[in-house]
Amino acid sequence: MEIYEMTALETAEKIKSKEISAVEAAESVIKSVKEKDEIYNCYSHFDEELILENARSAQKLIDGGNADSMLAGVPVAVKDNICTKGEITSCASKILYNFNPPYDASVIKKLKSAGMTVCGKVNMDEFAMGSTTETSFYGATKNPWNIERVPGGSSGGAAASVAACESIIALGSDTGGSIRQPCSFCGVTGLKPTYGAVSRYGLIAYASSLDQIGPIGKNAVDVAAMFSVICGKDEKDATSINSNPFSLEDIKNTKELKGKKICIPSDYFGKGIDFEVAESVKKAADTLKSLGAVVEEFSMPLVKYAIPTYYIIACAEACSNLSRFDGIKYGYKSPQASSLRDVYFKSRSEGFGMEVKKRIMLGNFVLSSGYFDAYYNKALKAKGLIVKSFNEAFEKYDFLLGPVTPSTALKIGEGLSDPLAMYLGDIYTVMINIAGLPSLALPCGFSSDNMPIGMQLIGKPFDEKTILSAGSAYQSATDFHLKKPDLN
Ligand code: GLN
Repeated sequence: MEIYEMTALETAEKIKSKEISAVEAAESVIKSVKEKDEIYNCYSHFDEELILENARSAQKLIDGGNADSMLAGVPVAVKDNICTKGEITSCASKILYNFNPPYDASVIKKLKSAGMTVCGKVNMDEFAMGSTTETSFYGATKNPWNIERVPGGSSGGAAASVAACESIIALGSDTGGSIRQPCSFCGVTGLKPTYGAVSRYGLIAYASSLDQIGPIGKNAVDVAAMFSVICGKDEKDATSINSNPFSLEDIKNTKELKGKKICIPSDYFGKGIDFEVAESVKKAADTLKSLGAVVEEFSMPLVKYAIPTYYIIACAEACSNLSRFDGIKYGYKSPQASSLRDVYFKSRSEGFGMEVKKRIMLGNFVLSSGYFDAYYNKALKAKGLIVKSFNEAFEKYDFLLGPVTPSTALKIGEGLSDPLAMYLGDIYTVMINIAGLPSLALPCGFSSDNMPIGMQLIGKPFDEKTILSAGSAYQSATDFHLKKPDLN
């Protein structure tokens, strides 16, 4: 077995026992990327020399006994919106094509001090706006299960890299589903942590009240290990807090779910969901029952407000966050500009792609004086109701089970040609960000055309432990996460 085919914990085990080094692990990933990335286009920046230098620093830390983490030496692919010092961080946008951050994001600092190796930047939808990884300045990423399909988005490069064994583990970000949805499309496992569980310092903001960084890996235990490396309070992010620590052994050893009460929101299975997706999630519910859990239906009628609420809040925050890209402080500056106004106008017009511009316009519209109350304020009220409905569910249940997306991966080009349908595809994921909850996406089946189907386990705030344990128990009882695409 090649190193790049191993799980993160298997790789770390071999590094710990000195069977292999951090440098060999990185070399293995480099080999895989060289063989396959021309096809899948998972990476937006891949600097071999820099990666090897990172791996040598990691090995030095390990040799000095200063990298006391379960994942020491493991290479990690990092989404291109997380700042890495000395390494381009572009958000897959022309406007940041040459942005070389002078600092590391807090999660990067954490993974470096854990002895892990930053191993390339992975492709994404521009500024994390999208569900397909087609809006990247660097071209679309392809789904390793079928290169005519999208990998999902916006962390499509991260999920596809894990599925194609072009990375061992990866970091993505999730504002409205961007970790979970590509995991579901690519047949891998990913965690959107509770809002505040992981520092956002150094994550280039899309919608600050919704964004979270989280891990994408081959199984729930790997994801749990990576989450424990990156979580915790950070002085530099006032919204971060120390959440409940858990022992990885407890997660690994959970084999049954006796005493757990799970609910399935019945409104998730209405019009619009593919039959095969609904069936796979219902079968997963049966598996969870066979592990000892009680599964019941629960009504969450507010799901119909999820999409408008999310897109109003996300675009409002995005237009404000993206106002800093003006052609002066960072990145691209239009060579055609002859006055200050021109610098702003032309740099932004030429630097941002269509989808980003659309959202900036929508955001400015919902915040404008005549429409603020009708849209933005109303969305905030709907947010309050959504939070309340989850609180009610959690009074009775330990966690919720639902689909991640209504369908399997779309064909390339399909989403962009029908943006409204693409936005509606976020229906099951965005409410979780609005309510700030943790959610674990993991594979639970395959469609008749052999595309992965995912489900999500939605937990109480800061109770990542319960959903990770349940995910691990489910994966001990099933083998969907072990299926691999045919990469030949
Ligand atoms: N698809 C959603 C959007 O385009 C979610 C993106 C994300 O989570 N970053 O806004």
